[in-house]
Amino acid sequence: MAPHPIGILGGTFDPIHYGHLRPALELLETLELAEVRFVPCRIPAHREAPSVTAEQRLALARLAMAGQSGFVADDRELRREGPSYMFDTLASLREDFGSDTPLCLIVGADAFRDLPTWHRWRELTQLAHIVAMQRPGVSQPLPPVLEEFVAPRRVCDPLALRQGPAGSVLFQLVTQLDISATRIRALLARGQSPRYLLPDAVLAAIRDRALYRPLPVKTPVPA
Ligand code: ATP
Repeated sequence: MAPHPIGILGGTFDPIHYGHLRPALELLETLELAEVRFVPCRIPAHREAPSVTAEQRLALARLAMAGQSGFVADDRELRREGPSYMFDTLASLREDFGSDTPLCLIVGADAFRDLPTWHRWRELTQLAHIVAMQRPGVSQPLPPVLEEFVAPRRVCDPLALRQGPAGSVLFQLVTQLDISATRIRALLARGQSPRYLLPDAVLAAIRDRALYRPLPVKTPVPA
């Protein structure tokens, strides 16, 4: 049988939160992954530029996963020029890990639905398996083009991911945590606390480094 798969969780991590961390830990254990690599993007291909630099987002991710064996912060997208395409990231991981190691691209259900907008999306399964984890508020059905793509690749048994290095799609149930970075940024911008939605160490660093500050209140210009 092939070696234990490597999990790859890409994202903006703006900032990292328990909705990333808890499902990643569940996948590490239930899919018997060798590790989960958290790969913050330098320039997100699918949303506006974050207010916090990629280096700062990576530093927060490192704090969040400190001490968790099997969690790895991977800075390869920060070292690459141009938009952060997952295709390029997987190609580079494939070079690092060789042709036999199963790679599992982990995506939330929202990101999975958007897959047909990704750069060279049909070729992603030549480089990796895809593990789609459920996310609150995101329901079936998939867009028809994606449904057609998934049908011949779908597997139900996590062990199938160890039968080959790439090519399968697995839908995996994870604990449903209705947490998003958008909401955390909104709370911080309003001066409210996002505590218990993300690790305390991350929140402390956000405060120390004055990240995601409340928006300045506009004072009316005297007439
Ligand atoms: P934003 O609100 O800024 O769009 P986000 O909270 O969705 O951010 P990302 O960094 O964009 O976080 O997410 C990285 C990956 O983690 C994506 O595949 C996303 O679907 C998944 N993900 C994020 N939050 C959750 C969650 N609460 N449950 C399951 N998957 C999640």
